[in-house]
Amino acid sequence: MERIFFDNSSTTQVDERVLEAMLPYFRSRFGNPSSLHSFGSEAQDGIEKARELAAKAIGATPEEIFFTSGGTESDNLALQGTAYARIEEGRHMITSSVEHHAILHTCEFLERQGFEVTYLPVDKDGLVDPDALLKVIRKDTVLISIMAANNEIGTIQPIEEIGRIARDSGIAFHTDAVQAVTKMDIDVDRDFIDLLSMSAHKFHGPKGVGALYLRKGHKLRPMSYGGGQERGIRPSTENVPGIVGLGEAIRLSMSDMERTVENMTSMRDKVIEGTISSVEGCHLNGHRTKRLCNNANFRFDRIDGEALVLNLDYEGIATSTGSACSSRSSETSHVLKALGLEEKECKGSLRVTLGRMNTMGEVERYLTTLPQVIKRLRGLAPSEVFSMERSEAGTCRTTER
Ligand code: PLP
Repeated sequence: MERIFFDNSSTTQVDERVLEAMLPYFRSRFGNPSSLHSFGSEAQDGIEKARELAAKAIGATPEEIFFTSGGTESDNLALQGTAYARIEEGRHMITSSVEHHAILHTCEFLERQGFEVTYLPVDKDGLVDPDALLKVIRKDTVLISIMAANNEIGTIQPIEEIGRIARDSGIAFHTDAVQAVTKMDIDVDRDFIDLLSMSAHKFHGPKGVGALYLRKGHKLRPMSYGGGQERGIRPSTENVPGIVGLGEAIRLSMSDMERTVENMTSMRDKVIEGTISSVEGCHLNGHRTKRLCNNANFRFDRIDGEALVLNLDYEGIATSTGSACSSRSSETSHVLKALGLEEKECKGSLRVTLGRMNTMGEVERYLTTLPQVIKRLRGLAPSEVFSMERSEAGTCRTTER
């Protein structure tokens, strides 16, 4: 059976052309970019080309791009780096209740260090209200961090409006654009963004490499100290093949962005309409139109999300619940809860996220399979549901993607 990968928000398949671009940097171009000899310059050239490509994708300049180990590190560096660099100006930060744990857990850490964080609520579609943001800004607010698009429900935030408010108030604006980069138009100048996080494995690049955009002149304290790599902001010998892979992946995605976004949007809409019309008791999570071109997220009455994911997997279709762990109430998705959903509504969720390599044929197979799986699960007594056994065996994963 051909397997279908509909979990592209968790990660994506590395594009063959990206792999090809990376390979020489494992082989003949293995030099340390800091070395003076030609091996070093070759590696350095690879990095600088990637820097230009990453900058171009978001309307930045190459000097404003710093390579990291991924989205999590970029988010940590943005928040902790700004908090400590601007400590004399204030200790208050603003974020939203639907951010990724890379942001929320960093905020909790900063709170334990004596900083104060305001968590803005969202409406039933997951949107932050810019007027509510205006009301919580204080004299000592130094940073606003609001994600460009949500990883679970796909809702796209009004980042340009939020950025303008931040700029007018003299506050730094960070956006976690890990899910958004290459899937929607981002321009750091138009959107008044001062810091932005991205991660290569979300756009058909390798895992373990990302970048932080840092507006020129913006203060940031590094989180680690060492050699002077990445101009001291992120010391450590660079992951050259990974960085080259990020560059090639972003180049490929951006060169074809309009067509890919259009394709993904039509597949997404077919998934949404087909799922809602073929399964009774199905509701869409997230905003209907202000959502990522590749994201569909549902909740089904009388369904356990984890059981659904496992049964779809058995049929060769990889999806996710969208929540970290849908069994055992303590792990209910904070994003679904923030929409105002009840505990039991959060448990029956399914996230279908598309990628450049998916096809309409795969969408059709999903739409034929899903109603059968739902029917089967609804016919089962709760004790027969597969996921319960799995959770009790301790295999429940708590990692958020
Ligand atoms: N932020 C968002 C919105 C994400 O979706 C993810 C990963 O799923 C991250 C941050 C973390 O990125 P990484 O896996 O590269 O650390």
